[in-house]
Amino acid sequence: MSDSPIVVHGTPVVPGVAYAPAVWARRPELPPLEAPDLPEDAREAEVERFNGCTVAVADGLFARASQATGHAAEVLTVTASLATDRSWKKDVARRIREGKPAIQATIAATEKYIAMFEKAGGLMAERTSDLRDVRDRVLAHLQGIPEPGIPVAHSPVVLLADDLSPADTAGLVPDMYVAIATELGGPTSHTSIIARQLGIPCIVAARQLAQINEGDMVLVDGRHGTLALGVDPVQAEARVAEDEKRRAAIAAWQGPARTADGVPVQLLANVQDGEAARHASTSYAEGVGLFRTELLFLDTAVEPSVEAQTDAYAPVFSAFPASKVVVRTLDAGSDKPVPFATLMQEFNPALGVRGIRTTGHNPDLLIRQLDAIAAAAAREPGTDVWVMAPMISTVPEAEWFAGLVRERGLKAGIMIEVPAAAILIDRFLEHVDFVSIGTNDLTQYTLAADRMSPDLAEYTDPWQPAPLALIASVAAAGLRAGKPVGVCGEAAADSLLAAVLVGMGVTSLSMATSAIPGVGALLETVTLEQCREAAAAVLASRDQGEARLVAREILVLRHAKAEESTPSN
Ligand code: PEP
Ligand code: MG
Repeated sequence: MSDSPIVVHGTPVVPGVAYAPAVWARRPELPPLEAPDLPEDAREAEVERFNGCTVAVADGLFARASQATGHAAEVLTVTASLATDRSWKKDVARRIREGKPAIQATIAATEKYIAMFEKAGGLMAERTSDLRDVRDRVLAHLQGIPEPGIPVAHSPVVLLADDLSPADTAGLVPDMYVAIATELGGPTSHTSIIARQLGIPCIVAARQLAQINEGDMVLVDGRHGTLALGVDPVQAEARVAEDEKRRAAIAAWQGPARTADGVPVQLLANVQDGEAARHASTSYAEGVGLFRTELLFLDTAVEPSVEAQTDAYAPVFSAFPASKVVVRTLDAGSDKPVPFATLMQEFNPALGVRGIRTTGHNPDLLIRQLDAIAAAAAREPGTDVWVMAPMISTVPEAEWFAGLVRERGLKAGIMIEVPAAAILIDRFLEHVDFVSIGTNDLTQYTLAADRMSPDLAEYTDPWQPAPLALIASVAAAGLRAGKPVGVCGEAAADSLLAAVLVGMGVTSLSMATSAIPGVGALLETVTLEQCREAAAAVLASRDQGEARLVAREILVLRHAKAEESTPSN
């Protein structure tokens, strides 16, 4: 068996290697959908019984939330609130009053809400796992059995599931659950967010996971998105040891980032407010490469005044009083609706009035935001403020935007997220001072695959060769024009891919602050020439899997073999 391991491929979320027995967290079977009607005089009591069960579920989750911190606490609170959702409870109660027993009424009402959420798509669709979780917890109470949850582990295990509920992931302990693999889910699902927060190696959308049985020894590689069964135990332990070495190098890394041959690479942070910027300023981030301003206003119904916006932007500049901060104007719409800026009820919001396009309806919105950015920049004269627009797709848009930014004495740029801008990059570069590539959207639009869809994770994989070819041509155009080309999408946070991007000629990489040491530590081990070689090999790959393999061969394995053959002194 050790000759031919079975390898299940998924989407990598959290890097890291683990080798341990698999345990399955399975959703309980649903009770039968049909049951005889309740007698009329028993219905009110059944409604009461149902209400009591929802309260018990909510209380349990709220109690766990009060013991948890960070995202885990938020997730538990959100799930608890769903258990007390008025319209869902009313729907169940109506069905009980029409004669359905509480169990069947709960299943039917929840199905209706799941269908509604799935139809809405995007973030709403990702909430369906919360709904199923609440349903299963309430059903357990109605049946008088324990609430479902992840199996308790007394020794290290790899946790497998079709999809983990947010409340389940919130209870994970990294010492015991050494890796997670799910059949469903996407890189932005709750499982992924919590796994990142806890640093547990994780892969999602692993379609063939069902062939792994409880107790099988599996080797999970969270960087490459693989789970292998039947690996020689000695080899598996060697892989785990190699990964531990990598983690130690990350922990010891100190910026600023340089390649092994001393070429500087600017590593910047993606932030959404002053607090995140202050946190980034305590790391080796050399500045901010993406300040997502729209995230400040997701719950804001009325456009804030120029003064209020100035106050919101200034703390990000003051966190970096002598460095570069790249501000992005509102990317309202699609998965980030901003109530005062977004057109509601579009059929296809990712292809709709999003980003710079919102100014077509309301140009003054952009003017006021630029005034506020300029006013905030004036409060912090040492900060080098660059301003860029999201979702630019035509040259006149870029020219118009750059003019407005330069009138305010700031550096003007655009994001390259729409293939149209990458295809005609030379013409865009004539009008701007810099560009920053948003690989999340560039991949979504190049592959025509919704980045929020858990079913399309392999298409929205940042290693897809087609968007990488566009990135290479943008980087080459930037070098020709002598203008900086940054990357600020998720691709920049994947250390191996970051090295490939450097090999293509990208001049800065912006990522979540937590990803900076991983990228810096890897860059330190490779020369610019190796990065270029890896970039060429990746561009010649037939798919995202091969791209990863060739990059790993050139940037990691060859390096390790060279180290092995060098006699230590
Ligand atoms: C991107 O699209 O890669 C990007 C950085 O923008 P956002 O993820 O905010 O859409
Ligand atoms: Mg984007």
